Amino acid sequence: MRILLVEDEGRIAEFVMHGLTEAGYAVDWAPTGEAALDTIQNSDFGLVILDLMLPGIGGLEVLERIRGRPVSPPVLVLSGLGQLDDRIRGLDRGADDYLAKPFALAELLARVRALLRRGAALPERIQAADLTLDCVRRRASRGGRIIELAPKEFSILEYLMRHQGRPLTRNEIVDYVWDSEFDGLTNIVDVYIRHLRAKIDDGSGLKLIRTVRGIGYMLYAADACVLDK
Ligand code: CA
Repeated sequence: MRILLVEDEGRIAEFVMHGLTEAGYAVDWAPTGEAALDTIQNSDFGLVILDLMLPGIGGLEVLERIRGRPVSPPVLVLSGLGQLDDRIRGLDRGADDYLAKPFALAELLARVRALLRRGAALPERIQAADLTLDCVRRRASRGGRIIELAPKEFSILEYLMRHQGRPLTRNEIVDYVWDSEFDGLTNIVDVYIRHLRAKIDDGSGLKLIRTVRGIGYMLYAADACVLDK
């Protein structure tokens, strides 16, 4: 899941990015409103975390412009303006949630999880054959056996499972799982797929992670056309 953080204070941005990255999200940072609007034109984000006091184009205007787009991600406002009036104004202008600074990282992460569950109406459990993905606890199991996954492994598997039966390119996978600094480094996908196969498919008669020659990877779906092993 890719998150856009709009925050002009480097220290706070670093703190939040570190926390989100540790939790397994891919984070892009925009230090100004202009940069945020530019970035959001070019990539899909599952969530925007938005500071209000920004130099140049302010946070509320960024919020309105995001809301004016045909498809707009949920927006969590993270602001030093913590008075009741400020919060009401933010929510009235289209914010999905409002967290005042200073804040605890654990609370920010909990609100991010809640928004991602609600905003995208994504299922909390995804099933493929005997493989189950629990998107809330971020855990996988196959045939009842719990499988420990690193955060990036989980994100890749989640992406494949949400699109089971559809071949995904390495670029699509990188774009979903990593931030923009990784664009072009698609070999990393092969490395992670190797780890995932060892955890998911080794020892199973039915191989769920398929290579689609000339394209990338696909998660096997019983009712989909399987192009290649
Ligand atoms: Ca600020």
